[in-house]
Amino acid sequence: MGLRVSEFFTSVQGEGMWVGVPSTFVRLSGCNLRCVWCDTPYASWAPEGPVMEVDAILDEILQGGADHVVITGGEPMLFEETVTLAQRLKEAGKVITIETAGTVYRPVVADLMSISPKLAHSTPSGSLARPGFELPESWIQRHERDRLQPEVLNRLLEEYENVQLKFVVASEEDLAEIETLLSNLNERAAKCVVLMPEGTSAERVQATAKWLVPHCIARNWRLSPRFHIDLFGDKRGT
Ligand code: SF4
Repeated sequence: MGLRVSEFFTSVQGEGMWVGVPSTFVRLSGCNLRCVWCDTPYASWAPEGPVMEVDAILDEILQGGADHVVITGGEPMLFEETVTLAQRLKEAGKVITIETAGTVYRPVVADLMSISPKLAHSTPSGSLARPGFELPESWIQRHERDRLQPEVLNRLLEEYENVQLKFVVASEEDLAEIETLLSNLNERAAKCVVLMPEGTSAERVQATAKWLVPHCIARNWRLSPRFHIDLFGDKRGT
């Protein structure tokens, strides 16, 4: 079996509750969604990388040396062996973050369940489909059908001690959509919201962040920097 891995890298966490924490990242390839602005199409739209056994993945991660390990994707919760990988990392003393869109449940060990539910602006359409990638119409329908799964989100919110709901936000419509989603989730959800300003350049992220400050204050939502974009821009392996 094994897991397809698109990359390993060690950096500092760029977003969310543990921003700035040195972390070794493993990016699993394969995703059940096709976000139009996906910044890792090599792990979703066109999954790449070798299939590796869990033991080999573990060795690579341990060479990274960081106490924190982020299992990201793609969508790591698609794969049964993600559960085994996380368990082995826990036994090795690592602090584990799972990065997921929150559409699939698995009983995976995680010190931080980092969920990025996908809002309407993620859905590709004919005119917005990514240049260079083919996307059958059925995928567009599948993305729209699957991108929000309140039952899965509620289960993750109930079962994990540390949870964040990270939303990429670009407009007031996004804020309204988040509030609608929260009204369909359990009470804890509103306390776990972290907004991430949309943008692939430091200038764009800062402009969106400034606009979001009063909205976050009004709702008691956290605003996250996007440290890796400030430092490195929209660059792979950072
Ligand atoms: S869920 Fe994540 S990896 Fe999958 S397409 Fe969307 S942004 Fe890309």
